[in-house]
Amino acid sequence: MAKVKKIVKSITIDADKCNGCKACEVICSSWHATPRYSSNNPARSRIRIVRLPLKDIYLPVYAGEYTEAECTGRDKYIIDGKEYNECDFCRASCPSRDMFHEPDSGLPLKCDMCEDTPTLDKPKCVEWCLAEALIYVEREEEVEEDQPKLGDVEIGLGSMIDKYGMQQVLDTIARMAKP
Ligand code: SF4
Ligand code: SF4
Ligand code: SF4
Repeated sequence: MAKVKKIVKSITIDADKCNGCKACEVICSSWHATPRYSSNNPARSRIRIVRLPLKDIYLPVYAGEYTEAECTGRDKYIIDGKEYNECDFCRASCPSRDMFHEPDSGLPLKCDMCEDTPTLDKPKCVEWCLAEALIYVEREEEVEEDQPKLGDVEIGLGSMIDKYGMQQVLDTIARMAKP
């Protein structure tokens, strides 16, 4: 199978350095506003700070995948004597909490590494974190080129047939096969 080179982007979070200033939330929400910088609402940010000063907890969390349902079982972490709440480390846009939902529409928010502006040398939240709690790293990896497996094709076709019916799928394939 052919190998291709891929750039993997990651942000290392040094939670011990985070002071809870929320500058990352401010810049993320205003950078992604339309038009850019037209509003500033941390509820629209794709990074949020779990901020519990009484427990000395300041934990940056990035918005990840959308999930339709909350977990049936959850884990509680105690690290260095600090007890975190069950969902604190989770990146999901989940119905169980307000975080990572666009406040007006309710649509899920997800961090895109600021990829809508390829000229940036680092994501905006990293640039604005003066405490250096967010460290951006790019690395190159060789990965096998994705080839669709027969099983994947069958599952895809099966769901198209369920949705549109066998005849419509066959008609579409016949139309596409015509020179
Ligand atoms: Fe923490 Fe940095 Fe965000 Fe401030 S900008 S809250 S120090 S991660
Ligand atoms: Fe589970 Fe995360 Fe939802 Fe908490 S926020 S219920 S950990 S998916
Ligand atoms: Fe927002 Fe960009 Fe930071 Fe993701 S990387 S949280 S999109 S500023």
